[in-house]
Amino acid sequence: MQVYRSDATGSAHGVLRFDTPVQYVKGIGPRRAEQLAEHGIRTVADLVEYAPFRYEDRTRYVPLASLREGEWALALGTVVRVGGFQSKRRGLSVVEVVVRDSSGQALVKFFNQPYLRSAYQPGMRLVLYGQVRREEHGRGVLAFSSPECEIIDEEPVSSVHSGRVAPVYRKLGEMRSRVLRQILHGVVTRLPADACDPLPGRARRQLRLMARNLALQRLHFPVLRAESGPERAREMEALNRELSPAHKRLIFEELFLMQAGIRMARSERVALVKQRRLRLGEEVRRPIKQILPFHPTPAQKRVLKEIADDLCSVRPMSRLLQGDVGSGKTIVAAQAAIIAVENGYQVAFMAPTEILAEQHSFNLRRLLSPIDYRVGLLKGSLRSRERREVVAGLASGEVQIAVGTHALIQEGVEFRDLALVIIDEQQRFGVIQRDLLRGKGKEPDVLVMTATPIPRSLALTLYGDLDVSVIDEMPPGRKPIETIWLAEKGRSEAYGAIAETVARGRQVYVVYPLVEESDASDLRAATEMAHHLGEDVFPGIEIGLLHGKLKGTEKERVMTAFAAGEIRLLVATTVIEVGVDVPNATLMVIEHAERFGLAQLHQLRGRVGRGAEQSRCILIADVAGSAEARRRMEILCETNDGFRIAEVDLQLRGPGEIIGTRQSGVPALKFADLVRDRRALELAREEADRFVAGLRDHPDEECRRIARFVLARRAAVNTPALVG
Ligand code: ADP
Ligand code: MG
Repeated sequence: MQVYRSDATGSAHGVLRFDTPVQYVKGIGPRRAEQLAEHGIRTVADLVEYAPFRYEDRTRYVPLASLREGEWALALGTVVRVGGFQSKRRGLSVVEVVVRDSSGQALVKFFNQPYLRSAYQPGMRLVLYGQVRREEHGRGVLAFSSPECEIIDEEPVSSVHSGRVAPVYRKLGEMRSRVLRQILHGVVTRLPADACDPLPGRARRQLRLMARNLALQRLHFPVLRAESGPERAREMEALNRELSPAHKRLIFEELFLMQAGIRMARSERVALVKQRRLRLGEEVRRPIKQILPFHPTPAQKRVLKEIADDLCSVRPMSRLLQGDVGSGKTIVAAQAAIIAVENGYQVAFMAPTEILAEQHSFNLRRLLSPIDYRVGLLKGSLRSRERREVVAGLASGEVQIAVGTHALIQEGVEFRDLALVIIDEQQRFGVIQRDLLRGKGKEPDVLVMTATPIPRSLALTLYGDLDVSVIDEMPPGRKPIETIWLAEKGRSEAYGAIAETVARGRQVYVVYPLVEESDASDLRAATEMAHHLGEDVFPGIEIGLLHGKLKGTEKERVMTAFAAGEIRLLVATTVIEVGVDVPNATLMVIEHAERFGLAQLHQLRGRVGRGAEQSRCILIADVAGSAEARRRMEILCETNDGFRIAEVDLQLRGPGEIIGTRQSGVPALKFADLVRDRRALELAREEADRFVAGLRDHPDEECRRIARFVLARRAAVNTPALVG
């Protein structure tokens, strides 16, 4: 094993421990430690995982006579002259140093650092690294512009900053790259030698992964194999694309620990035993069939069976029900609820918005009317008397199904015997909310539903602790929504389509982007648009306006009127994004579509295409030179496949954005990239399965060591999310 040795910093300090607080690291005092803490860096372990974002090859000195404009260069020269001036026009102070080597001379300029004027003296030897620019004024000579500069007194030159491949870091607090390089150099050369390796030896050997300490050292101070030539260029390229052996090792480790954590949590859950025994006899099957307004699709039947098996098993269910917009998840949820209620238990059904909760309560009441259940609705905007009534009904058990927003998880809401928790549009809730609702019962079964099609790589990381059921077919007779994209000047075409759709007795949505429901100017735009359409464009058409700022009763009134076909054209903000179900609406016009993300556009569009009629979606978007926005519009015009759209979304935006990292408790990844490192993720998952099986069946020393590591990591990841 080749260990990199420090050659520039003193070795007065001894070996560090990974749990040493950064404050005790050479070069970091209380003030810097505080700044690091703001970036989540508290211990040596955190610090060494702060990866460089770029590397520079600083091994080749360029003769001063061969400097070229625009290039980043490393040079070695002797100071000839030091001067400086104050630029009146721009208020800049400039220090100029002239250096020379055997080939020629070069100018070095520093801006707004007047003290440097006395720092450099003729005869000093300097190592310079920086970009070479041509002077705007004067003789048009080449000059180093604010380079990194080091005074040396000994040759050959080899130091922390030059004579090597140097790491470049993003600034942390006041600490710039150069300071961080110095500090990290001190740290990685003093790592504890016997640091435990959290990877199974088997995986390390098979995948030829570097030892942990070596990987950490090489991450910060890489050692290339090739001295020069194209091979060296390739190695540099690999480093900068985070594909070096050190990166590979750390990426795999990170993915493995994450997967192992999820799988350990899952095996803990699987070890739990429910007190209740649910049965699915004939008397339960009867009402399940009785409520069906249509024949369920084979996919709906399959997932209902998966859910029913879970409900009747002794282990608490934790299942994700995934199905594209309009695939028919609601009826499956209703059937699952019947199983719980027929066995004498209660059900809680939580939705992210009031509109959706109202819609669900409306739909469930209608669906369940033949069997006469009591469905209670709990939402923020209830009058206190209504609320008291529902709360009392839940406590006594008289209300069997509680539908609601997060009002359900408030204190004071108690269930007599909650057995099943259903959470719609799961990605909008955090893990904490999920757990709070779960806490309202004794090991209740949990079903979370999402229409956000999650690419497999992401599903593994997000929902690895859940079992997954997928509704992968649409109810019969659905036709894919035809989508077109118009620029502003094509607006009249959109109006033509609206007129024609309404003339055929169908209904229309016009959607306005409201990033925040509180965004007053957007709200005004939507309101004005509704007036404009009603008065100037379609005076004969009944128009409604729906947005989050409306009072609950008003919202309900508008939605009911639209569902009944009294309102023909509904101007709405994104409050209609989820759940709203009016099959007679066959056209959606989305204004400023460029302001929406792909996932959101797909969700919105899913409000049409819910009947047998051909539906259309018109995107009015100005992509003004944004290649990304253009790509979003194109992909929507191209496909209705939610999974395909999610894949593209993942590529365009990255996973954190899609799910809202913090909220869903997805740990932020330091090394891995879920798109780029899919293959490693698969391998890490297999390895994690093997590890968890080993831990369960024949735990050896290695298993226990890894388990300790995983638990420590899980605690570290969870803590900030809980306080934040
Ligand atoms: P989502 O999965 O988006 O929540 P919904 O449950 O709202 O979808 O269902 C979408 C629409 O399809 C509803 O109008 C529902 O009544 C209808 N639907 C669901 N399943 C079927 C089916 N098997 N046959 C016919 N229509 C169905
Ligand atoms: Mg739904």
